[in-house]
Amino acid sequence: MSDLLEVKNLKTGFQTENGFLPVVHGISFHVNQGEIVGLVGESGSGKSVTSLSIMRLFHDTRGKIAEGEILYKGENVLTFPEKKMTKYRGKELSMIFQEPMTALNPVLTIGKQMRETIMLHLGMSKKEAHQYAIEKLKSVGIQRAEQVMEDYPHQLSGGMRQRVIIAMQISCNPSLLIADEPTTALDVTIQAQILKLMEEIQQKTNMGILLITHDLGVVAEICDRVIVMYAGRIVEEASAVELFENPKHPYTKGLMESAPKIGSKKDRLNSITGTVPNPNNMPKGCKFAPRCPVAMAVCHEKEPELMGEGNHSARCWLLDEEVKKKEEMLNA
Ligand code: SF4
Ligand code: MG
Repeated sequence: MSDLLEVKNLKTGFQTENGFLPVVHGISFHVNQGEIVGLVGESGSGKSVTSLSIMRLFHDTRGKIAEGEILYKGENVLTFPEKKMTKYRGKELSMIFQEPMTALNPVLTIGKQMRETIMLHLGMSKKEAHQYAIEKLKSVGIQRAEQVMEDYPHQLSGGMRQRVIIAMQISCNPSLLIADEPTTALDVTIQAQILKLMEEIQQKTNMGILLITHDLGVVAEICDRVIVMYAGRIVEEASAVELFENPKHPYTKGLMESAPKIGSKKDRLNSITGTVPNPNNMPKGCKFAPRCPVAMAVCHEKEPELMGEGNHSARCWLLDEEVKKKEEMLNA
């Protein structure tokens, strides 16, 4: 049971000339208050479609939510009238994107943009909102906040812009923050600073954070729990500690081997060979089978369900003792 966000059997995709093309295939997961949950996978795995669906920004593209529920504090946001959703966006659920430039209006000063958000959601006067914005900028480690209020987005560095976005997105004290690759566009040092900042904010505010990333290194830094996605499905879910100690899905293991390790001199990574399958042309059986180094005959025929005990589950036939035994006998 989750008190904050519960996604139930979410199925989304794109409307195309040839009909509906599913991209996310009935995923279910939750985020509790005070928890940082990592949603991990390569690009094309359905992570961003999932986050946009939660914010109900997905159908602005050609996307369509076909099935499922997105419960925020027990209410299905998919049934909200647009007016109510607009009110919730920013105030209850906030989102940070990878490229902060797209989230900022290039022709308005930071101050004007921040004041407007704050006035809209918190009903403050312009003067109060100005003061409040400066406080928020300082709270994300921007020393010369007064100056930054006068700046235009292009006058700031990438790291500074991402801090501004974070300040803006947390200014109305949302309960849930969705961060989609928030540090991907930044260099490694700044990346670490931004992650630390997000962790500090989470601890101070007790908000829930859904952190979307392709980088398991990022997950290891700050996440409590991890959901691994592949080809629009959840393929593994566990606490971060458990996942790193005992990964069960060959895809998760592959991601771990390709994640840069701190202090490692190796500059070329063992990335997983092959690519995420095209939604137009999904393999039969396990969607990872064409890339899986330990695929068995059954894998090419039948898709496994999520299996597991307690809070650790994975979608892999290797977890099914009977299937494994049968395969071993076949190969004996
Ligand atoms: Fe690999 Fe088979 Fe497991 Fe899929 S089900 S990940 S192909 S072993
Ligand atoms: Mg925490």
